[in-house]
Parts: sequence; structure tokens; C-alpha cells
Amino acid sequence: MSAFYPYATLTYERCEQLALFSQDSSCMDRRYLSKEHQQTNHQVMLWMQAAGMRTWQDEAGNQWGALTSSKPDSPTLVLGSHLDTVPNGGKYDGILGVLLPISLVQYLQDTEQSLPFNLQIVGFGDEEGTRFGATLLGSRAVAGTWQENWSALVDADDIGLPQAMRNFGLDINKIRNCSREQAIDAFVEIHIEQGPVLEANNLAVGVVSAIAGARRFKCTLTGFAGHAGTVPMHMRQDALAGAAEMILAIEALAKVHQVVATVGKLTCLSGATNVISGKTEFSIDIRSENDAQRDIAFAAIEQSIQAIAHNRNLTLQICQTHSANAVLCDEALQNKLTQAIVRHGIRPFALASGAGHDTMAMANICPVGMLFMRCEKGISHHPAEAIRTDDVEQTLAVLNHFMQTFHIPKQT
Ligand SMILES: [Zn+2]
Repeated sequence: MSAFYPYATLTYERCEQLALFSQDSSCMDRRYLSKEHQQTNHQVMLWMQAAGMRTWQDEAGNQWGALTSSKPDSPTLVLGSHLDTVPNGGKYDGILGVLLPISLVQYLQDTEQSLPFNLQIVGFGDEEGTRFGATLLGSRAVAGTWQENWSALVDADDIGLPQAMRNFGLDINKIRNCSREQAIDAFVEIHIEQGPVLEANNLAVGVVSAIAGARRFKCTLTGFAGHAGTVPMHMRQDALAGAAEMILAIEALAKVHQVVATVGKLTCLSGATNVISGKTEFSIDIRSENDAQRDIAFAAIEQSIQAIAHNRNLTLQICQTHSANAVLCDEALQNKLTQAIVRHGIRPFALASGAGHDTMAMANICPVGMLFMRCEKGISHHPAEAIRTDDVEQTLAVLNHFMQTFHIPKQT
């Protein structure tokens, strides 16, 4: 048992406690600007204050805490993640990355240690985008990349974003005040891996090399509907059978090109037992930490599925619905995190993130780094999301090494 054991337990218990702030009593569901978001910010603020931090909430509903260095011109390191969840989500995705650094600050206070730089912790209000459809609202406000057209966003109950902000006590017209451009010298996010790689390698933590860029497409495949009993097999233009062949081709090509590609949504528009499918729609989500590799893979997929459509006498329309490039983590920060892992006495390991994170937004204004912590079976966005207290203990020790040895240059 290390000196960090009580702080790991504290972190774990606080994750449990925040899970009570859910807008659905049967599952974890905490959306942006909800009453539960407000309750969460308040509780996090109290924990930040107990750890000796000065606190405030910004105009996007992000909760901040600061530990100011005695040297006035010191650089500023920000640690943080998000406090919102998806519907029927878990207790640790995002939340761990806010509560774990607070526990470390508590440890520093209890052991009367100070840092040679300014440390701030942020709990972003929205990362998942489940209330208004657009993601990373909290971190993009901080990064100064808030979009003016977000004023037109409405939630499922027809409440507009400006009104939701008013109800929360915020003013959308002051959103630019959140921007922290030139005020942050480095951002580091701690997050559960949300995948099975660390567990498979028997490791508590890993250093993130890059966050994969994603492209998404909506594919519409048109054939000709017909009677399931009367149209001979060789005369059919079956859109669903065509989609099936395409889905397998996408899977095979993703393996060849070493990217991840997923068809997660498939709709057969006629959808009757005795009708040959005349029209089918499906999605493609393709990701890689290497944008060029991803685009080459997609070009191969496009060529292959168009050929399948042609051979089956079908028409295929492909429409891109989303595109974001990969974000590379800062090399110096990666090295520092790796050194901290080595100092802690465990094998350093680097991996890419297939999921998006607040770090992507923060990369617009400062060097960024990410540390992944193992989660059980890689499950996330699910009530079965689970972590181990001894992994939290190890992550705290690694983060402590990182902070003790780290001198960040002030951005110019
Ligand atoms: Zn997350």
C-alpha cells in the first residue's frame, strides 16, 4: 500500500458520489446545463476548495480550480476532463480525469508540498454532446473555437442553447470570456482507455500518442423492390443483400489498411418479410491516428463498394457527414509522461486513442498530453464501466512523478 492509497480510495468514492447526480434514476445520465450538471459543479467546487484551490465557474458552465504558484510569472499547467455523461453511461468516463487530479492536489496539500508552476483543474460541462448534438462545447469555449451558429441548437425538449444557458445562470453573449488562449502553457487529460489494449498488456496506464481523426458517411443504396416469391434470383436488384456484401468488404479493407471502420447503423427502408429490399441506408465511421492512411483506406473502400453496387445493378450515393483530422499529442509531454511511468517502475506503453476527447479542442491553444488508465474489459458508455482502485493509486503516483519533475516552458 503506497502513500496514494487513501487518495485512490477517495477518488473512487467521489466517482460513486457524483454518480448520484443523474437525471435518470435508473441509469447514469448527466447532460450539459442540467440541474445535475449544476449539482455536480457545486460538489466538485467544494472538493477543489477543500484541497486548497481557488474556484470559479466560467460562462460555458465549466468548473475550474487553481493552485497559484508563489512565483508570479510561472507557466500554467491545466489538468482536466469532462463531467457530463452519455445516457445509460458510466461513472468514470471523463469524471476520473477531474477527480483524480483533485485528489493529487489534496495529497500535495496534506503533505505540504508546493509546485513550481500554476496548476489548474477543469471539469468541462459538455464533451459528449448528447443534449445539443454538437460535441466538446465546454472545451471548445475554452479553446476559443465556440461556433456562433451553436446559438441555434435546440435539445429534444425544444429548449434552445441560449435559453438553457440562461436557466443555468449563464449568458451566451459572454461566451468569449471563457477563451483561455495564451493563458495555458500545457493541458494534460487523464481518461479511462475505453478500449481493451492496456488490460490485454496487463498495464495500469499508457501514454496516448495521438487521437484518431474520424470521417463519417451516410450511404444510400437504391435497387428495386419486388415480390419475394415471384422475382427470380438472377433478376433481383436487392439493396439489402448489396449492403451486406459492402459491409463485409468494409470490414476486410479496414484490416488490410490497418484502420478501424464500422458500419453501426443499417436501415432497410421497405422492411417487410416478403419484399425484396428496394432501398437501404447505412453509415460508415472510419478512423486512424494517421489521416493519410485513413483517406487511402476510405478511397479503397469507396472503390470496392461502388464496384459491388455496379455488379448488382444498384445505385450507391455516399455523403460525408463528419470529418475531423487526427490530433498528435505533444512529444515533450509524451516523453515526460513516459519518464514518470518509468520512475514509478512500470513498463512504459504508448497507444493511440480511437475515441474523441476534450484534448482535441485544447490542442488548438497549447501543447497537449493524455494518460490512459485501464478500465475493465475496455467497456465504456455503458453501466458496466468499471475501474480498479489500485489502478487509480498507480495513476496518482505516475501523475505525481510527472508534476514533481516537470518544468513547462511558458508559451510566448
Ligand atoms: Zn470521455
